[in-house]
Amino acid sequence: MSETTIDYEAVIVGAGFGGMGAAIELKRQGVDSIAILEREDDLGGTWHVNHYPGLAVDIASVTYSYSFEPNPAWSRLFAPGAELKQYAEHIADKYDLRRHMEFGVVVDEAAWDDAANAWTVRTADGRTITARFLVTATGFLSQPYTPDFPGIDTFAGEIIHTTAWRDGYDFAGKRAAVIGTGATAVQLVPEIARTARNLTVFQRTPIWVVPKVDFPIPAPVRRLFAAVPFTQKAARAVNTSLLEMLMVFGVLHYRQAKPGNQLAALLSKAHLRTQVRDAETRKQLTPSYDFGCKRPTFSNRYFRVFNRPDVDLETSSIVRVEPDGIVVSADDETDGRKIEIDTLVLATGFNLWDVNFPAFTITGRGGRDLGKWWREGRFQAYEGITVPAFPNFLTLNSPYSYSGLSYFTTIEGQMRHIARLFGEMRRRGSDRFEVTAEANEKFLDEVTRRLGDSVFYAGDCTGSRSYYFNQHGEATLLRPQATLPSLREMETFPLDDYTYA
Ligand code: NAP
Repeated sequence: MSETTIDYEAVIVGAGFGGMGAAIELKRQGVDSIAILEREDDLGGTWHVNHYPGLAVDIASVTYSYSFEPNPAWSRLFAPGAELKQYAEHIADKYDLRRHMEFGVVVDEAAWDDAANAWTVRTADGRTITARFLVTATGFLSQPYTPDFPGIDTFAGEIIHTTAWRDGYDFAGKRAAVIGTGATAVQLVPEIARTARNLTVFQRTPIWVVPKVDFPIPAPVRRLFAAVPFTQKAARAVNTSLLEMLMVFGVLHYRQAKPGNQLAALLSKAHLRTQVRDAETRKQLTPSYDFGCKRPTFSNRYFRVFNRPDVDLETSSIVRVEPDGIVVSADDETDGRKIEIDTLVLATGFNLWDVNFPAFTITGRGGRDLGKWWREGRFQAYEGITVPAFPNFLTLNSPYSYSGLSYFTTIEGQMRHIARLFGEMRRRGSDRFEVTAEANEKFLDEVTRRLGDSVFYAGDCTGSRSYYFNQHGEATLLRPQATLPSLREMETFPLDDYTYA
């Protein structure tokens, strides 16, 4: 046990669902001296930052929520974004988390102090905070990405990144452009098309889109969920199992179950055929890479937008931005047409691998810099949560941590891991843990072996430009394991995979 005085037992960076889940678990383990530092001005992470029109979950809400905190009030099968923000607030209140939170605090760096047996956390406003345990819950999709298009600074109209939406912005009478065709654009484009004078959607890589079975949850069903929670649990089990099948057979076991993957692609192609009249447009909207290489999405409204006379799909590459529009290349790569616009919407997503992993400088034992170590070697984290040479450090958004099913599955697995780890520390009367290099290597070998069967390696992901792949071309985001065994592993891992002191 250490004697040095520390400010907190634990510092958690990030007040989204990950950070809140870690705080709930730490409190259950008897750790109550917690500071949750959040760079934004409120809690909720993704669901606080994103509030663009059309925002909704794309994993049904019965599944996209903590299993221990079902919400019978979801208005639809796929709840709108604002309900997720409300749910986050409810969690913070119910689990008494607000008193731990500080907003507008940007963490610049954290370093392990071996003599003090504690982390020293430095913030951008010059504070130094010490804590026995450090938890990073900074999200995967939290560093907005704006491509460096030549001339973008000269654009005379409005530029809006989807993560900095101007609520109430009126597109009426505007010639609008959306750059990007990821999950965000798929939700946003139909909304902008409704009001803009015209809309040009700039697509570099098409996305697989499957039909979305969505409907309002009738009041009697909501009442039933509230009165008999088992019914909502059953709905969750059914939905989760369907999603799990899609993930396991479509993505993780591509090599063994290729027809499952091809079936999903066929479903998306049939969906496109029923929604878009023009054959050439359909061709442009059809991905050339295998289903699952890039995160597929759900929508009944996206494809059909391209039937409208006032919506254009632009697939030529962007050469530069000028004050009044975007110049795209002609087929021979010379300057082509200029598309004149008033408002430019950047649905260009997030930078995962350059500025995240980790989101700020983290230095462990012996001066090991986590970002450098990951980049110069391989991205890795034991069970997607701890790293050798980084004592008392839990990294929630780490390589191989993301359960392809839902972010909540990821967090709940990590909560189980925390419970087992802290339970063992309590039993031993210790206040320091560190995963062994051997256990970490074994886990890395195992996920590497399993990934060999996934669509990422056994399929054709050429040209998918998927953020599942890092800058070395390795698919190091997803934990390649079905949900149940992965959850089981998180609560049964060998205790001597860690050293304790
Ligand atoms: P994204 O999937 O990374 O998409 C970014 C888009 O911008 C891509 O189409 C990309 O094209 C394009 N782009 C980037 N740089 C470009 C450039 N220089 N020139 C032309 N195009 C460029 O980001 P996102 O749509 O924000 O979605 C990110 C993730 O957030 C999703 O996969 C999903 O996990 C999550 N999400 C979830 C929900 C939900 O649950 N409701 C909603 C939205 C987002 P390339 O593909 O060619 O790179």
